Amino acid sequence: MLKLAPDHWKMIFRQNFTQWKTLADFLELDQPLREQILKHPSFPLNLPRRLAEKIKKNTLDDPILKQFLPTLSEQIPLAGFVLDPVEDRQFAKAPKLLHKYHGRALIVCTSACVMNCRFCFRQNFDYEVQEKGFQKELELIAADESLQEIILSGGDPLSLSDRVIGHLLDELSRLKHVKRVRFHTRFPIGIPERIDENFLKLFESRPYVTWFVLHTNHPHELDDQIFYHLHLLQQKGVILLTQSVLLKGINDCSNVLRELFTLLVNRGIIPYYLHQLDRVQGGGHFEVSEETGKKLIQEIAKYLPGYAVPKYVREIAGEPHKTPLF
Ligand code: SF4
Repeated sequence: MLKLAPDHWKMIFRQNFTQWKTLADFLELDQPLREQILKHPSFPLNLPRRLAEKIKKNTLDDPILKQFLPTLSEQIPLAGFVLDPVEDRQFAKAPKLLHKYHGRALIVCTSACVMNCRFCFRQNFDYEVQEKGFQKELELIAADESLQEIILSGGDPLSLSDRVIGHLLDELSRLKHVKRVRFHTRFPIGIPERIDENFLKLFESRPYVTWFVLHTNHPHELDDQIFYHLHLLQQKGVILLTQSVLLKGINDCSNVLRELFTLLVNRGIIPYYLHQLDRVQGGGHFEVSEETGKKLIQEIAKYLPGYAVPKYVREIAGEPHKTPLF
């Protein structure tokens, strides 16, 4: 189960909304709207205040709010929606190391996130909580010279302290066969100030190429301050890509997707993947049909250059790569 972040971020996270009533008051939701909220979800509410400030008042029909507010829709059981839709655990080589695809391995660095997305496919993941450090994972990576790329994921790897991230990056720097390190993060969407001077130093003089894949689903999530902090990373030579999830009532509209991808490429950030929803239990109300997804890609491809149109994919457990849908 994903958790709130550890102590070093508590000051900032103190401003996160984690209680439904506080959020409902902040958003001035009237009583009929409050009745649609799931009051005690097993996957807790967690929404940065900065992101909440972008939400329209007194409505549930907002593309940011829909991604984070637990609602009664999550309790409707749907066939095919399961606890571990991508069957991650079968690929675990160590408590925090997943090896699914050739040449790449993923470290599940932390169970903490700065925000809890209701459609998260890892919301029920059985995170390792006992063992501290990454010794076993690093030993396995060192022993397998086919691993050219290491993905730092979670939770959100930016929930870790700079000290812990620095240690991981130092250890990976010692391994000659590691040519690429990739972060999967949504943190800058909630708290862009996380990318500060100390954090940026972690990317200086590394022997590998560093990639960031930023998770963003809707243009309302983005703003100039976020782009400013991302640009600081670009100045350090970090390559920025994005991934988005196709979500019903949020971004299943060609105009919204066009706006999102245009905003990104105008800042030199390449939209990498548009994911078909992973069929996680409680997330069924977010699903868009593949047929609709293909039409959306066709539509936006009429207006955007090829590099601005992400690959539309779905993850099928056991397949050697993501499955292209278009
Ligand atoms: S989708 Fe990413 S940011 Fe959202 S809860 Fe899951 S791991 Fe955290």
